[in-house]
Amino acid sequence: MECPFQIINWNAHFAYRSAKGLPMNERILISGASIAGLTLAHWLARHGFTPTVVERAPAPRSGGNGVDVRDNAVEVVERMGIMPRVRELATDVQGMKFVDAADRAVARIDTQDPASVEIMRGDLAALLHEVTDVEILFGDSITGMEQDDDGVTVTFEHAPARRFDLVVGADGMHSNVRRLAFGPEERFVQFKDHYFAFADTDASLGEDRWVTMFNTPGKMTGLYRSGNHAQAKAYFIFRSAQLEYDHRDVGAHKRLVSEVFGDDSSWRTRELLDAALADPDFYFDALAQVRMGSWSNGRVALVGDAAWCASPASGAGAELALVGAYRLAGELAAAGGDHRVAFARYDAVHRPLVDKKQQIGANVRLMVPRTEGGRCLRDTVARLPLMKAIGAVERRVQARNARPLPEYTPAR
Ligand SMILES: Cc1cc2nc3c(=O)[nH]c(=O)nc-3n(C[C@H](O)[C@H](O)[C@H](O)COP(=O)(O)OP(=O)(O)OC[C@H]3O[C@@H](n4cnc5c(N)ncnc54)[C@H](O)[C@@H]3O)c2cc1C
Repeated sequence: MECPFQIINWNAHFAYRSAKGLPMNERILISGASIAGLTLAHWLARHGFTPTVVERAPAPRSGGNGVDVRDNAVEVVERMGIMPRVRELATDVQGMKFVDAADRAVARIDTQDPASVEIMRGDLAALLHEVTDVEILFGDSITGMEQDDDGVTVTFEHAPARRFDLVVGADGMHSNVRRLAFGPEERFVQFKDHYFAFADTDASLGEDRWVTMFNTPGKMTGLYRSGNHAQAKAYFIFRSAQLEYDHRDVGAHKRLVSEVFGDDSSWRTRELLDAALADPDFYFDALAQVRMGSWSNGRVALVGDAAWCASPASGAGAELALVGAYRLAGELAAAGGDHRVAFARYDAVHRPLVDKKQQIGANVRLMVPRTEGGRCLRDTVARLPLMKAIGAVERRVQARNARPLPEYTPAR
């Protein structure tokens, strides 16, 4: 029978690559072509590796709300040469506005931050795709992985089986690679008592450059209005016990959101819900976090939401993905491709930032107060000029404590 894999003498192969100054473990499969996966592929290719990306969707996924490119993530994007484009496409949102049922603003919080640029998630993914010239297998997914001393044999839903030296899961909170290499989702994903949904809606409904939020106890209906886009995003968050549903069944997601908000005729909830339910790119998920003691298992590692999802309430998903992917590629380059050294270093250097960003309690209380009293208190506090001063101090402290982003150079 014909062997489906190339037979290679790996010791001779590594000796040859090392003599030529090329990294070992150069063939790296990445699952997921979103923020983490594309950034990782870009930097691995620049460091001399040969990444291949497999993405379940037929093309780069374009949906999503505004995401922040902040602090060290700005430097990563700068070094990729796309920061001017990110600034051109910035949403230019000024802040959050809380309204009453008559659409009167009861409080506003200015969230503008000179250390951060907000861009629509889909725009950022498209820019990363443009500057990442690697093999991408769209419309496919890994079905199995067998590790041995020399590499990983990977089987796919559609493509023929292939050998890779390393595999990285950048396939989001419900990571397929994590399930195959580390165990079932329930061991790592911690539900944070809420669900959320985003979808396109009519831009004329929202105030330009403001995120408008309306609360009833345990629920929030919102409207995200960028200064640079013809469209607006409707969004919904609700407090709930954990629900059973298929996380890939958009019809089921729409039914769940309809059950919670369908009877609600306050503020603009009805209009926003109708628009959201008509959007085929309706995005729904649990507010949850991924917590893992280690982000690698042998020749398999994780990056982005697959490894440490901090949830949209952190406002840090893109930042963590950009910086984490840059560091993972850099540590592999610095270790000459030795995954044992690189994966341990990557964990050590990136984990402190992840731990900090996973502290989201106050953000959730701010966006979705549980009671009417909680909402009144939130609005009162949000009106105090003190809020702006606290934000500025926080940003100054963060900037002072920020560790510079290393320049990684491949070991030769
Ligand atoms: C369509 C979409 C919209 C989003 N909208 C928002 C938003 O509005 N606000 C927010 O804070 N965060 C949003 N997120 C999440 C946000 O992108 C992440 O928190 C953050 O940017 C980290 O990105 P990531 O690359 O680790 O994961 P993700 O952005 O979740 O990307 C994971 C990628 O893996 C792919 N994938 C999943 N399963 C498989 C599989 N079995 N095989 C191959 N590929 C697979 C997915 O299609 C996706 O492209 C969204 C994600 C997506 C995919």
